[in-house]
Amino acid sequence: MDDLDAVRVREGAALMHTYRRLPVAFERGRGAWLFDGAGRAYLDGLSGLAVTGLGHAHPEVTDAVSGQAATLVHTSNLYYTRPQIALAEGLAATFGWSDARTFFCNSGAEANEAAIKLARLHGRRHRDAVHVVALTGSFHGRTLGALRVTGDPDKHRPFEPLGGWVTHVPYDDADALTAAVDDGTSAVLVEVVQGEGGVRPVPPQVLRAARAACDRVGALLIVDEVQTGLGRLGSWYGWQRALDGDPVRPDVVCLAKSLANGLPIGAIVAHGEAAKVFEPGDHATTFGGGPVVCAAALAVLGVIDRDGLLGRAAELGHRFTAGVEALSRVQPLVDGHRGRGLLQAVTLTRPVASQVVMAALDEGLIVNAVAPDAVRFAPPLILTDDEFDQMLARFGAAVTAAEQEL
Ligand SMILES: *Cc1c(COP(=O)(O)O)cnc(C)c1O
Repeated sequence: MDDLDAVRVREGAALMHTYRRLPVAFERGRGAWLFDGAGRAYLDGLSGLAVTGLGHAHPEVTDAVSGQAATLVHTSNLYYTRPQIALAEGLAATFGWSDARTFFCNSGAEANEAAIKLARLHGRRHRDAVHVVALTGSFHGRTLGALRVTGDPDKHRPFEPLGGWVTHVPYDDADALTAAVDDGTSAVLVEVVQGEGGVRPVPPQVLRAARAACDRVGALLIVDEVQTGLGRLGSWYGWQRALDGDPVRPDVVCLAKSLANGLPIGAIVAHGEAAKVFEPGDHATTFGGGPVVCAAALAVLGVIDRDGLLGRAAELGHRFTAGVEALSRVQPLVDGHRGRGLLQAVTLTRPVASQVVMAALDEGLIVNAVAPDAVRFAPPLILTDDEFDQMLARFGAAVTAAEQEL
């Protein structure tokens, strides 16, 4: 504890105060486990915010990273690099789009920025459309444009003015969305399950209305799968199963978080006309699509495919909801669940998610409070049956401990 106090003091003096951190410093990780300085093991039920989907120190990712780091780390995008091309080809296969094209960047916010710029260029081609329609409760990142489309007025307020080019409609109101899309709309931007917004699935009729409204005016449907993509919902992408087998096909998809299992990467993948919008000079990044992150991401795609992790995430998601339902019958603090696959929130009957998260930390389980009354689970897709059972058991113990403290 002495050690942690010293870490806290140094952190507070050296770093800007942008984060409210939990009282632990992890030193290493292996699979679904994290270890602190004293060697105590914590089961990772969050994957660093849905990032380390293959767990920590996955051997194939480690090999890909170290091999590429020893070969070539950076050249800039003035030149061709093979890992970038191979990853774009690999991504196209996961989408099932033969005409898919990718632009690589470095984060989720950057992916949304790129998608918005693409939609503006597209919207200006035939009409003067620069507007974006987005959903309340959405999260798209912290840079100015991504912040503007984020559906959370409290995050906007300190940084206004952010410009009047976005309309937010209630995330569950298909009619409001349809009415908001007009000739000036360049894009509709949605998540399939709102992650930071509290793990709230966007209703299928809203996704369907978004597609129809875009088709009506010639706007692009952008799906932000930064948190939901790469298998977390039990399919490569949430939109592929958005309507139980009747997918709503987007024009552009934003990716980041788990794509390189913890290395910073972002991407937008488009098909059709949208894939051909950008021309040299329209958009660029120094680091985007660098050889090391692309080698890591290529390894991620390979492991998900080979190890059948899409089906595994779907299966564990069903077991999770059954487990939470059982828990809610014996534990009055547990209300229910929402989410899909391995992106789930346990809803509580009282706004005590922070207390439950602290109690979970004491039990050696990492989860986070995604709303005052909701605890988010985004465990790695590689959880064993035993680890999965331990996750639910530790959570049950944490809820009981938290309840006794109330
Ligand atoms: C995390 C997240 C972002 C922002 O990603 P950063 O890498 O933090 O910029 C954007 N959209 C969604 C849906 C996210 O979950």
